[in-house]
Amino acid sequence: MTPAFPEDSSRTSGQVLKENKNYVSSLLSQRIDEPKGLKLTRPGDAEYQLTNATFVSLVRNSELHGIVKTIKQIEETFNDKFHYPYVFLNDRPFNEKFIQKVRSATKSECFFELVPAEVWGKPSSIDPAREEEGIKHLEEKGVGYANKESYHNMCRFYSGGFYNHPKLQEYRYYWRLEPSTDYFCDIDYDVFKFMEDNDKVYGFVLNLYDSPDSVQSLWPTTLEFLKENPQYLHKNSATTWLRENLQKPDNYQTAKGYSTCHFWSNFEVGDMDFYRGEAYSKWMEHLERSGGFYYERWGDAPVHSVGLALFADKSKIHWFRDIGYQHFPYMNCPSSDKCHGKCASGKFSQFDNLNSENCMATWAKYEMTPKELQYY
Ligand code: GDP
Ligand code: MN
Repeated sequence: MTPAFPEDSSRTSGQVLKENKNYVSSLLSQRIDEPKGLKLTRPGDAEYQLTNATFVSLVRNSELHGIVKTIKQIEETFNDKFHYPYVFLNDRPFNEKFIQKVRSATKSECFFELVPAEVWGKPSSIDPAREEEGIKHLEEKGVGYANKESYHNMCRFYSGGFYNHPKLQEYRYYWRLEPSTDYFCDIDYDVFKFMEDNDKVYGFVLNLYDSPDSVQSLWPTTLEFLKENPQYLHKNSATTWLRENLQKPDNYQTAKGYSTCHFWSNFEVGDMDFYRGEAYSKWMEHLERSGGFYYERWGDAPVHSVGLALFADKSKIHWFRDIGYQHFPYMNCPSSDKCHGKCASGKFSQFDNLNSENCMATWAKYEMTPKELQYY
């Protein structure tokens, strides 16, 4: 797999960034309340029924305050009209205070589940010497959480584990919630039904570049897999986005042919049957064998994203431009009365120097059709 664009000495990465920034601004300045031209259902509709879906949050007891704040916002903007359940996951038992405070933040059913130690913990196949060397390298490069084993466990669990947890096996669609994230705008249609009715496998709001040192061998490892299993590459895959090399050429170089563009997975709505399917599962086994969750610090966001971009039909990946969302330091804020002025529309971050981390332009320009752009 080659670079998506030829080396172009007439344009610097700074110029590309400026063009991309203007392009995204023009998209975001268009008003949107809800997606247009797609099926939307609401509780008042004839024969309306909830679909098979749940919120999911992996969370620690110490994050009680942050998760309650987020649940309250989700209830106020969306779930008070629907009452989808919540599944909370933890590698340690939830304490009584956590359970009680969370229950009192919602009328919906809540399940508090343990992640078994053998699923959560580092596999015995990981070579300690190689791991130590990897951590040292990542620390030299300033990669966050390099030396935090629980963070590596978390990324691995969200990449390849959560959808097979016995409680989650009861469901098809999930919406991931993270403590201390904000939901600004009213969502009056059933987001899960939207996925089902419009045949979507994944929905995102933010699309970013990753720290390239954290995923140095993810792309070469994936190419090995594709070489042995070319049948899994979808004919409508999103490989321009994966191989984009102009806005952050250094990322492309360090990650050996991967742009590092990814959907930011702290918000995601998805069909777990995609991950449970043959292509993603087989690929995950291949990734596990390489040890990159521990020798490097592969995040679940680039792993989900690479898997989706390669193995799914890209027309089944939906940008929820209408969902006002924030996980520090990035946000998505549509121009809509449904946001009641709670966020600054069109802004990507409160820190302007972070605009270079936005990968949305590449997705919108090269992976969305003109018709899809009209949904907004
Ligand atoms: P960041 O957003 O990449 O800085 O990572 P976070 O610290 O927000 O972690 C991502 C998600 O995983 C959050 O929902 C955390 O609550 C959860 N998480 C991270 N580490 C652990 C852990 O060791 N145990 C549990 N139960 N949850 C964790
Ligand atoms: Mn977080």
